[in-house]
Amino acid sequence: MRSFVHSAQPGRVIFGRGSTDQVADEAEHLGITRALVLTTPQQTDLGDLLAEKLGAVCVGQFNRATMHTPVDVTLDALDLFNAAEADGVVAIGGGSTTGLGKAIALRTDCQQLVLPTTYAGSEMTALLGQTENGRKTTLRDLRVLPETVIYDADHTLSLPLDMTVTSAMNAAAHAVEALYAPGATPVLNLIAEEGMKRLADAIPRIAADPSDPDARDDALLGAWLCATCLGNGGIALHHKLCHVLGGAFALPHAEIHTALLPHALAYNACAVPEAIEALRRATGSNDPAAALFDLPARAGATMALRDLGMPEHLVERAVDMTLEAPYPNPRPLDPTALKATLLAAWAGERPHV
Ligand code: NAD
Repeated sequence: MRSFVHSAQPGRVIFGRGSTDQVADEAEHLGITRALVLTTPQQTDLGDLLAEKLGAVCVGQFNRATMHTPVDVTLDALDLFNAAEADGVVAIGGGSTTGLGKAIALRTDCQQLVLPTTYAGSEMTALLGQTENGRKTTLRDLRVLPETVIYDADHTLSLPLDMTVTSAMNAAAHAVEALYAPGATPVLNLIAEEGMKRLADAIPRIAADPSDPDARDDALLGAWLCATCLGNGGIALHHKLCHVLGGAFALPHAEIHTALLPHALAYNACAVPEAIEALRRATGSNDPAAALFDLPARAGATMALRDLGMPEHLVERAVDMTLEAPYPNPRPLDPTALKATLLAAWAGERPHV
């Protein structure tokens, strides 16, 4: 057997519908005695719910978490955190709310308790992206890794179907790339395959009935496993392309993951036979690139980058930017092949392995 290093990050997970009821106990378990509750303007009702469950431990609420973690919003939240003499954050929401909690933890080293309501997966990583003066920078620091995560699928029942599908494909991308990026280990391979399998199974069931509690449970479990891959494994061409398109061209995050993933996999397929086998098992299809296209497409997702607002002339620019600072990738980056891959994603073609 080949040798490898498997480095797992610490963290406590409470999983189950209704487990939000344990929020006060879990805050106490972490030693949080004065909590600042975080969420977005759209989810203030959930912030209120947590404040009620935390009782006297809740010393304030900040409901202005914002996409891409703008530093000015973080500093406002930090003012409230300090004024309230808080010693921990309890964050409920998607990646934006989790990001705000991480940004506060980076500056205070406080304890974080996170209740995710999307499948983005930030809660399992020590990564933090922040924006200031229109520039996004990303750092990795163990202070930003949340100590405890409560996964309660009841909070995902309200996630609209289009966001559900693209958020789940965002999660799937973490598993797919962990299978072949540097840092892959037999343990991560198992987690990635199972995470992908759960999502592939759950997405059609949610599309048929978005309020199916068991399908929501399965999707959240799958998303957790995929997030673990992002937290402990590596990323490659697909994530690089998403960072180029999302960062430089401001295309929407989860939607571009959805449209690009089958094409990035098709590009790498010839170099990663074991990953393809794992994805065949996970998707139940002999052609996992086509399966990763059909899964979101059949649930109504937009599969052409042109329909997400990308003009065709940016394809060439995206290839150049990808080659300027590439991520390690199993198949060497060939400009002509890469351009063909991006053009296929731009046109929304169904790829094959
Ligand atoms: P989000 O957190 O920005 O949420 C989008 C909107 O959906 C918000 O208005 C939110 O209130 C709402 N929402 C969330 N859950 C809902 C629910 N269950 N029902 C109804 N509405 C709901 O979106 P996201 O995709 O979860 O997060 C994206 C952000 O997370 C990006 O900034 C991305 O860079 C970051 N991210 C970071 C990491 C990391 O490891 N650092 C990983 C993944 C994503």
